[in-house]
Amino acid sequence: MPVSVKTYAGVEEAARALSASRSARFFGGGTLVMRALNEGTQAFDTVIRVTDPALRQVKPEGDRLTIGAGVTMAAVLANRDLAFLHPVARSIGGPAVRTMATIGGNLFAACPYGDFTVALLALDGAVTIAGGGRALNLDDFLKVRDREPRVIVTSVTITRPRDAQAFRFHKVSRIKPKGISVLSIAAHLPQSGGRVNNARVAYGAMGPTPLRVTGVERALEGRSLDASGIAPALAAATERLDPPTDALASSWYRREVAPVHLRRLLLNQAG
Ligand SMILES: Cc1cc2nc3c(=O)[nH]c(=O)nc-3n(C[C@H](O)[C@H](O)[C@H](O)COP(=O)(O)OP(=O)(O)OC[C@H]3O[C@@H](n4cnc5c(N)ncnc54)[C@H](O)[C@@H]3O)c2cc1C
Repeated sequence: MPVSVKTYAGVEEAARALSASRSARFFGGGTLVMRALNEGTQAFDTVIRVTDPALRQVKPEGDRLTIGAGVTMAAVLANRDLAFLHPVARSIGGPAVRTMATIGGNLFAACPYGDFTVALLALDGAVTIAGGGRALNLDDFLKVRDREPRVIVTSVTITRPRDAQAFRFHKVSRIKPKGISVLSIAAHLPQSGGRVNNARVAYGAMGPTPLRVTGVERALEGRSLDASGIAPALAAATERLDPPTDALASSWYRREVAPVHLRRLLLNQAG
């Protein structure tokens, strides 16, 4: 199928073009869009690109940080303000993929992809959408994501962890260092007086999209991060989850190993 490429200088103009056409798809870094085009499996005949540099900016604002949707994994790795996200970016694909893959595209990547989004979710991410600057909790956005293929996300705003220990990420894959996820876990665990206060924990590859594990978050509240303190959280590790079965792992396997990896992450033993 012939495909036309339309390039816009401004996001708003591009957003109007995207929402007006059912057969158009936004192009971030193209690691998934180009693969669909090369394999001829795409259901679109128009690709929309934006050159606006604002999409590639990173802006610290107090204890929050806004990352443009066009920021690539390689750009994350080159930015010292984003040092806490370096292990996450480094876990995605190989160098060629990281050079192109954007954080905006990661929000839409189908399971078991979406590792970066898992981290953004644990950091209380909020997405901004072109066309009036609508902002949505990332959590809510992911629930409707697949019904909104014709919007452009312009940025994601996250909480900056207070210290290096407060944010943790662990990806389980069969091929290291760059395999696809059996599962990934991210946690933001601020503490006061040795007790967890306002925990956020998210999983990847444990459902159709990255998801927050609110049962685990509640069980961690006010607890210390030691073996007895985390026991209730481990008991809630797979509550109400229905992980997928795919070529990497069965649903049963994912349920079995999730508490093991959550334990390692909470005790800071994940490698
Ligand atoms: C070899 C290989 C290895 C990979 N390994 C991993 C991995 O380890 N972990 C992982 O998470 N992913 C992995 N991926 C998947 C993918 O590269 C990443 O998820 C990447 O972040 C997708 O971003 P992109 O900019 O390339 O998306 P694109 O291909 O440009 O777009 C993907 C989808 O997102 C939409 N989209 C992109 N940007 C926006 C935006 N700003 N607003 C609205 N819609 C948008 C597009 O329309 C499209 O539907 C891998 C891919 C390949 C090919």
